[in-house]
Amino acid sequence: MEKVTIVTGGSRGIGKAIVQTLARENIKVIANYNHSEEKAKQLKKDLEKENIQIDIFKADVSKREEVKKLVNETIKKYGKIDILINNAGIDQEKLFQDITDEDWNDVIKVNLYSAFCMTQEVVKYMINQKQGCIINISSIYGINGGSCAVAYSASKAGVDGMTKALAKELGPSNIRVNSIAPGYIDTDMNEKYSKEEIEEIKEETPLERIGKPEDIAKCVKWLVEDEFTTGQVISINGGWVIT
Ligand code: NAP
Repeated sequence: MEKVTIVTGGSRGIGKAIVQTLARENIKVIANYNHSEEKAKQLKKDLEKENIQIDIFKADVSKREEVKKLVNETIKKYGKIDILINNAGIDQEKLFQDITDEDWNDVIKVNLYSAFCMTQEVVKYMINQKQGCIINISSIYGINGGSCAVAYSASKAGVDGMTKALAKELGPSNIRVNSIAPGYIDTDMNEKYSKEEIEEIKEETPLERIGKPEDIAKCVKWLVEDEFTTGQVISINGGWVIT
């Protein structure tokens, strides 16, 4: 049977490109969404024109009960989950002094707790299967930090820490865990940047352009196919940040 994957936040932006790329590789994709129902339905319709069937599933992945439903329904229908892409995330731009407890908790819940929760619910099936691939979409800010993005940067550094520790724990079960840490990628998340700011980023980037969601999806495809990479944080950023 074809491989089965859940992609969180799969209806738009980077998640949408990951869904399209994996679905075109003959992988059965369950594209999760929370608020963007219309976009999820449209994506499903568009792929049907290519004779590709995906499932779409509404769940707030920062809530344990909704995560359980998403995972249990997938198992009920397909009997296994081979690949998990923890992509759902929210941004937050605030001066450190202005971050409230609620702001902090919101970002940690969506960006870090959701990845913990999704992985915990899925990994028991992967351990039984003695194989699996988990890819966490973190951020360059988790590596080099972003000014006015302390909670976001902390959440993404947490995701990378989780990736490394889990890779050690789950390697003997033949489960690979990696992070992709994107630089600036052209999605709704970056609508806040002005044309001038985007030009500045391009100028600072050796490859002289900003990233596209497909740049991240290509790396996901490679990590899915690869068999000997685990515990790594791969930053796809055009050379904007070289560590
Ligand atoms: P985006 O266009 O704003 O999309 C965010 C996605 O996350 C949407 O699909 C959204 O789904 C989903 N999401 C948010 N909260 C959710 C929740 N509670 N439950 C389920 N889904 C939820 O952002 P993007 O640029 O594609 O970002 C995707 C990932 O890449 C994020 O983790 C982000 O931090 C990371 N990243 C992005 C960049 C960049 O430059 N764009 C750079 C570094 C890292 P709904 O619309 O259905 O609610």
